[in-house]
Amino acid sequence: MSETLFSKIINREIPADIVYEDNLVLAFRDIAPQAPVHILVIPKKPIPKLADAESQDHALMGHLLLTVKRVAEQEGLTNGYRVVINTGSDGGQTVDHLHLHILGGRSMTWPPG
Ligand code: AMP
Repeated sequence: MSETLFSKIINREIPADIVYEDNLVLAFRDIAPQAPVHILVIPKKPIPKLADAESQDHALMGHLLLTVKRVAEQEGLTNGYRVVINTGSDGGQTVDHLHLHILGGRSMTWPPG
């Protein structure tokens, strides 16, 4: 599997503002924030996109969502927040390593563009 920007962040080959880490996942601030709080939560396992997750990943997928909740609490997002997974080219995904966007600190609009 080819190395992506995010695997380089996991391996500390490029810097990132890391806000949470455990043995399975990493959370860091997005370099081009689209909201006052914009954090990416990624698995350390290099799953390219949601469509590539397999049944054996089910515990990891649950852990990613619970990490979103943990990080949102840590960031004080008590009024709510949005979680986004862009998947594939029509989904607007630009980095081929599964990531969950946490967007918060402002009111969101719907539908997204
Ligand atoms: P997506 O468009 O859903 O694939 O999201 C990729 C996200 O990665 C974008 O929001 C980018 O701003 C973000 N990004 C790209 N490079 C970096 C980086 N070096 N550190 C943090 N976030 C990044």
